Amino acid sequence: MAEETIFSKIIRKEIPADVVYQDDLVTAFRDINPRAPSHILIIPNKLIPTVNDVETEDELALGRMFTVARKLAADEGIAEDGYRLIMNCNNHGGQEVYHIHMHLVGGRPLGPMLIG
Ligand code: AMP
Repeated sequence: MAEETIFSKIIRKEIPADVVYQDDLVTAFRDINPRAPSHILIIPNKLIPTVNDVETEDELALGRMFTVARKLAADEGIAEDGYRLIMNCNNHGGQEVYHIHMHLVGGRPLGPMLIG
């Protein structure tokens, strides 16, 4: 059984967060350390530590993460200009919180994709 992170507490509303969307499969909230005018994290309600742990049975939640990303990008007014979706995996990927999350980042030109 994987160890819970602070994100499970956010899903259960046990600690404060700026939650912008929640349903039976996913939760989305503003990143506490935003790197752009819009920076939202979209996570499955189920604890999946890394992308390496994704199972076929998770496909519904993972697909929902994309439709929620589309909706939130529109809500944020950044859909037309564009934005970036990022998922980090493990140490080399720069993952800090071991509950998979999609970063929705936008609101300014982000430049070329960063590696390193
Ligand atoms: P990653 O490096 O991909 O694991 O990203 C983890 C992200 O979670 C970082 O951008 C953090 O700023 C963000 N984060 C950590 N704790 C919180 C929190 N309590 N509420 C909102 N965002 C958080």
